[in-house]
Amino acid sequence: MPKALMRIPYTGPLPPPRIIPHDATTLPRAIDALANFLVKPSRQPSTVVLSGAGLSVASGLADYRGVHGTYRLNQSYRPIYFTEFIQNHEARKRYWARSFMGWTTLNNARPNAGHHAVRQLGEMGLVRSVVTQSMMSGSNDCMYMFSDECIDVDSFHSMAHPELPTIELHGFLRSLVCLSCGGHLTRAAFQESLAKLNPRWAAFLAEVLESGALKTEDPAQRRARGLKTNPDGDVDLPDAPYSTFRYPACPTCLDKPPVMVDGRRGRVEVDADGAWLASSTAGILKPAVVMFGESIAEEIKTAAEQAIDEASRVLVVGSSLATYSAWRLLRRARDRGMPVGIINLGGVRGEEEFYKNLERDQSGESGVRLEMATDELLPALVKHIK
Ligand SMILES: [Zn+2]
Repeated sequence: MPKALMRIPYTGPLPPPRIIPHDATTLPRAIDALANFLVKPSRQPSTVVLSGAGLSVASGLADYRGVHGTYRLNQSYRPIYFTEFIQNHEARKRYWARSFMGWTTLNNARPNAGHHAVRQLGEMGLVRSVVTQSMMSGSNDCMYMFSDECIDVDSFHSMAHPELPTIELHGFLRSLVCLSCGGHLTRAAFQESLAKLNPRWAAFLAEVLESGALKTEDPAQRRARGLKTNPDGDVDLPDAPYSTFRYPACPTCLDKPPVMVDGRRGRVEVDADGAWLASSTAGILKPAVVMFGESIAEEIKTAAEQAIDEASRVLVVGSSLATYSAWRLLRRARDRGMPVGIINLGGVRGEEEFYKNLERDQSGESGVRLEMATDELLPALVKHIK
């Protein structure tokens, strides 16, 4: 049995990057180097883009490790793990309370100039596919001390370039999947149910959205705008603590209880308003994202590997490759002898390894490492190539 590929967060510090080519520290030089990387190769150029939360920062979403990232601003932030979510009703209440608060901001965020530039590079035939870790790629995740989805959970890629093949490595937040029957439910419908089941939270959310407190990740700024959180970064309403937060059962399983793995029929019990009760044995809905500690589905893993194998070079955009699932894709590219490009603010896990055998006088065609904002650099690059 091959070892299951799990999504595990890495929160440790990463060393600052060595810029490649060494003079690509200004925008014009960075553009030249990147154009050389994408356009110069004599073989038919075909790049696969591997994107992360950093690309969505300009859309107003927090990343994890950036200057205003979740791990830096909220030291107590701790994402939920898969086993916790499936085993623990209390953990799910907390998760959904946070997620309920975070969703509106997340859902209102839009792809930025960086995503659109990726689309244009696709139209020019320079980029052939995208593998994204972001879950709003339809992402990525969080105003986000409230929603564990924070980041990498956006559908921005599919919005910005529906024509360009895109693999969402860590799933997406736009829908939920039932752990019992496998049925799907849209997040919009689910959010509506959460609002109905938790009217005090819904009123509070409306108030907080009005105050702008959810537009920042900084706990101090949030407090200044009237949003107080406890030391774990959670909101607890005085008259409605999240231990009383309610979430709906899968409507399909409620209608027709599913047959479980042991052959017995599952039990789905709800209160008078339709909220899932702990006496149930089935009908739990989970966001369609790969949670931390959860394995990536085999077909997604295979599709991502195929995207690497079919390309001739790989460009990492806005990711520190802190999750092993993304890092191993880049290692796969390196093992295949593919040139590697990285644009990321801040260090990338084990990046020196990807540039070991680079010729000294190359000007980007066999490798680039840039540290610049993607929403500036990528559109400028498109303009330059045109
Ligand atoms: Zn179901």
